[in-house]
Amino acid sequence: RAKETGKARCIIYNEAAFNHIEHDVSMEAAMFEAVRNGEFLLHYQPIVDARTRQIMGFEALMRWMRPDIGLVPPSQFIPMAEDNGLINLLGAWALKSACVQLKRFEEVVGRKLYVSVNVSPRQFRNDQFLKMMDDALQLSDVKGDQLLLEITEGILMSDPEYAEQLLTKIASRGVRIAIDDFGTGYSSLMYLKRFPIAALKIDRTFIKDLPHSVKDAAICNVILSLASHLSLLTVAEGVENEMQMEFLSTQGCSLIQGFHTGFPELPETLIELLKADAAALQH
Ligand code: C2E
Ligand code: MG
Ligand code: MG
Ligand code: MG
Repeated sequence: RAKETGKARCIIYNEAAFNHIEHDVSMEAAMFEAVRNGEFLLHYQPIVDARTRQIMGFEALMRWMRPDIGLVPPSQFIPMAEDNGLINLLGAWALKSACVQLKRFEEVVGRKLYVSVNVSPRQFRNDQFLKMMDDALQLSDVKGDQLLLEITEGILMSDPEYAEQLLTKIASRGVRIAIDDFGTGYSSLMYLKRFPIAALKIDRTFIKDLPHSVKDAAICNVILSLASHLSLLTVAEGVENEMQMEFLSTQGCSLIQGFHTGFPELPETLIELLKADAAALQH
């Protein structure tokens, strides 16, 4: 009887597991289908000089336009793409598209800009990554120093030898590496010494309560001072008001990204903005 009970339980367990898997499979199937149907798109968020407020570059941020559901944010599909490996395909597409788009933005403003692209751990570990990056640069005719790759702290710590080798090769193309969400991960200073890092993106959890929070002000000051001594660029993420902008600019932050200076938008919308900017400068 014990055997039977065991069996019955086993069936129930399997049914639950099956439903769970079926759910994931349908989302997964939708994702593969979406790649074929071209349902993924990039929004671009302006990154401005903290002092002059001029647009210096853009971060490419992925979205999924599901015909039946609407716009899906990356938090709802990047983790699954990371699990099932689709992130390699999506990431390659994003990098190529972002480089091509950068050229169009540059045509509008008539000066050099840069584009920042997020790279996930699985992409970073993929042995085709470097070739994929080289292809994107070559195809788009974007110079290495106009591309910034955003990686997270975890990528560096899981396999430091591999990370060092790959980052050195990336840096040899002039491509810059930024640590995204800086301060929320391992925050080991070792990697600032060991790896060719060019920029720190201060996570918005430290920006949110500026300038009132004494702790956040201190943390930002220390990060900015560290970056300045190491000649690293700094980008403040999630800047939503003038007081935060004022504080960061005064404390020597190089670049600002946030709703205060621009939302992530479709390229067409930004082109209008860039045109208006360029026209305003001529008058
Ligand atoms: P992230 O790289 O840290 O990107 C910044 C996130 O902050 C974006 O969310 C952006 O819309 C949001 N943000 C910008 N300014 C503000 C602000 O002033 N206030 C607030 N509250 N939020 C602001 P998003 O677009 O939802 O992206 C979330 C995360 O998804 C990204 O965080 C990144 O880790 C990941 N992601 C996005 N696109 C890609 C991609 O193409 N590849 C990979 N691997 N990951 C991506
Ligand atoms: Mg990012
Ligand atoms: Mg970030
Ligand atoms: Mg973030």
